[in-house]
Amino acid sequence: MASVAIRDVRKAFGSVNVIHGVNVSIRDGEFVVLVGPSGCGKTTLLRMIAGLENITAGEISIGDRVVNHLPPKERDIAMVFQNYALYPHMTVAENMAFSMRLRGAPKQEIAQRVNRAAGILGLTNLLDRYPRQLSGGQRQRVAMGRAIVRDPQVFLFDEPLSNLDAKLRVQMRTEIKELHQRLKTTTVYVTHDQIEAMTMADKIVVMHDGLVEQIGAPLDLYDRPNNLFVAGFIGSPAMNMINGSIRANGSAVFQAEAGASFAIDTAPRGSDGQPAVFGVRPEHFTLADDGAEMQVQVVEPTGSELQVVAKLGQQDIIAVFRERHQFKPGDKIRLKADPKLAHLFDAQSGQRLD
Ligand code: ATP
Repeated sequence: MASVAIRDVRKAFGSVNVIHGVNVSIRDGEFVVLVGPSGCGKTTLLRMIAGLENITAGEISIGDRVVNHLPPKERDIAMVFQNYALYPHMTVAENMAFSMRLRGAPKQEIAQRVNRAAGILGLTNLLDRYPRQLSGGQRQRVAMGRAIVRDPQVFLFDEPLSNLDAKLRVQMRTEIKELHQRLKTTTVYVTHDQIEAMTMADKIVVMHDGLVEQIGAPLDLYDRPNNLFVAGFIGSPAMNMINGSIRANGSAVFQAEAGASFAIDTAPRGSDGQPAVFGVRPEHFTLADDGAEMQVQVVEPTGSELQVVAKLGQQDIIAVFRERHQFKPGDKIRLKADPKLAHLFDAQSGQRLD
């Protein structure tokens, strides 16, 4: 096992800079998820750790070795790709054994490792099949089996679940997490899916336009996003962002452009009249007589909860209730945001104010 250190890493393709100086330290045994929208540079960063892209500037270490100039096969990593990259003409067992055969490992050791990995992943009965005879989830397990057989210092995953249907994705997510709890191999996992990031990671790295926006434990990012980008990216349905300004003379309140006002927990860093954004997660609204008046547009019960879209002035607000209500479109409701759970950002810089 090993730690991974990414120090001021930059990447340019020709004259186009796509990674602008990224620092991440990953502890031995940690499960780190790189998450961000399409094109933010997460795959490129992963490929630089793997040695599949060269590093324009900065340094990547695995354990105590700087690996910038080491070819992939000398980095002691195993990568699992989105498309699984299985050899179609080889059986499951042969696919899993392939990299060890290349390295000239003894037959008996290969068989032992393949059987062990197959046992861990529930592939024992499928070892003689060919990839075309497997389901998507089984192929994904074979791709992971191939990585496990090598017993590398670091696992690298590049969107490994994106070709699976929604139900299987949830199941495989749990399997990968269980696998990590069992093997405790340092893991770097790339996804654009914030739910995958939240549920799997020990630590999330939120990327945007080739930069790191924030690094933290899943619930820390959820509870205290540093800026509007992270606030909007983490959480589903997304945080409501209400435009307005701070009123800081006397008791601090947030004055929404739509007319309503919301209590602020502590006096914010920010001046009276400063344009700001008040962020409220959908589950942090409650019904209250002194709440802001909104008009119900759509009511969506899922069984376990009730999602309501309501207009505050021109803006759609999403609120989620655990309890059942008989709201109808057109109803007027009054919603209050718990000030302790609300977020305040500077409108211009997008940075957190409280
Ligand atoms: P996605 O989720 O869509 O895979 P990503 O966050 O993984 O996105 P990257 O694939 O790392 O993003 O790409 C980052 C940026 O680098 C993009 O703007 C992309 O167009 C660019 N890029 C990636 N590979 C190359 C390449 N070989 N040559 C030129 N530009 C590239």
